[in-house]
Amino acid sequence: MSDYEEIRGNLIGMLEELNDRLSKITDDVKHTAEPPEKDFAEQAVQAENDEVLDFLGNRARTEIAQIKDAIARIDSGHYGICQSCGEPIAAARLKALPYSDLCIKCASQQGC
Ligand SMILES: [Zn+2]
Repeated sequence: MSDYEEIRGNLIGMLEELNDRLSKITDDVKHTAEPPEKDFAEQAVQAENDEVLDFLGNRARTEIAQIKDAIARIDSGHYGICQSCGEPIAAARLKALPYSDLCIKCASQQGC
């Protein structure tokens, strides 16, 4: 259990950072959602920004979900096991990608 104490701490740190980033992104989106009183060119730029922010927001949310999953797996004792083949995930991979739930073999088969 305590084997993953350090990783758990790292994951929580990542989670806090992502939540922070996400709330900044959300603030930006809110800011650009003000009543339009700008010219068309500016609105076009804003629409583009919104798309980028949407993308970043979605990515952050996906990562947050993966990190929360990983923490839950640590707590339930299922961490470090490939969700696809059930083999242990290499420690080096867990270090590089602490919220990974697939071993290298399965991840490369799935193309990610
Ligand atoms: Zn696997």
